[in-house]
Amino acid sequence: MFGLYIHIPFCRRKCSYCDFNSYAGMEDFHVSYVDALVKEIKFNPSYPGGLREVISIYLGGGTPTFLHHSLLERVLCACHDGFILSPEAEISIEANPETLDGETLRFLKRMGFNRLSIGIQSLNDRLLRILGRGHTVEEAVEALLIARKVGFENVNVDLIFGIPTESLGDWMRTLQRVIDLEPTHISTYPLEIYPGTEMERRILRGELEEVGEDEQADMYLLARDLLTLHGFEHYEISNFTRDGYRCRHNLLYWENDDYLGFGAGAHSHLGNIRFCNLSDPLQYVGEIKKRRSARIRRDELTREMLLSETMFLNLRLLEGVDPKRFGEKFGLLPQDVYGEKLRDLAQKGLVNFGERPKLTEKGLLLANYVFSEFL
Ligand code: SF4
Repeated sequence: MFGLYIHIPFCRRKCSYCDFNSYAGMEDFHVSYVDALVKEIKFNPSYPGGLREVISIYLGGGTPTFLHHSLLERVLCACHDGFILSPEAEISIEANPETLDGETLRFLKRMGFNRLSIGIQSLNDRLLRILGRGHTVEEAVEALLIARKVGFENVNVDLIFGIPTESLGDWMRTLQRVIDLEPTHISTYPLEIYPGTEMERRILRGELEEVGEDEQADMYLLARDLLTLHGFEHYEISNFTRDGYRCRHNLLYWENDDYLGFGAGAHSHLGNIRFCNLSDPLQYVGEIKKRRSARIRRDELTREMLLSETMFLNLRLLEGVDPKRFGEKFGLLPQDVYGEKLRDLAQKGLVNFGERPKLTEKGLLLANYVFSEFL
């Protein structure tokens, strides 16, 4: 089992909090970028796994739906040409509401995308403006409704909480409204303030105030309570789903399985090998044009590194570390390797130390501390 991640680093505008590898104002460069991407996907020399099927393709960004339809089609065709796709493969695309109209959504459906992830972030226009998003509440709701109308069953909504000036009541109203729109999957992330962003500058100038950790924790718990009350399964620290629509692609990351990344800054993980591409899109295209690899780093992970990574990635899942999978990978149980550490975390009330180690309620709030114990 493995998946493909394809990075599209272009956006119509840069959001005020954004620290991702994404750029606005590079429209003239889209074609050259996709030319390089297609080359990298089709003639990818690194996949040693023979005929293993691809179980997921994920176009992320950036805003992949900002690309012209014909360019998206070329990217997806390259995946079909370069790899063997499972007939049940999850084929996801990230989208922002302002790039989604009926025509685009119908095109995506025709192309075979079967999972749509919409960056809605908030259903409050004041907060959307603070985030510097390029859409309004009305456009977000409209995009989701059209997506359902054209036949997208599996729709994720990305939400951010803890936005400056956001109250618990604001957050509850966003959640309530999103629930009413009936997506199959919701991802909720606390706003992080990254150095060098417009958001950080506004905070440093005193124009905005950061939401405190305790308030963010209250918002997190509110989301957990409200979403589970409405039938969502909380299956990963930040992710909720209904009707079994877990994100197969992200499960590859959390289960520490294999994936190949293409495009500027994309990361790959094959067995004990990790590598990543140049993150600057211009340099990335330059290298591929010269028929060179765009990779800048290749790391070989030791068994100890793989063990610790598997532990903290698996612990992100609410069902915890699966002893069977862990045993198949390493020939040992998590308790055999980390017995002392797990006992210590259990004493602190952060981990349930049963057959299947997993985070407790308290552990969910202090997850980063728990993960750091395995580094
Ligand atoms: S849409 Fe996403 S990737 Fe693009 S600027 Fe905004 S946060 Fe960054």
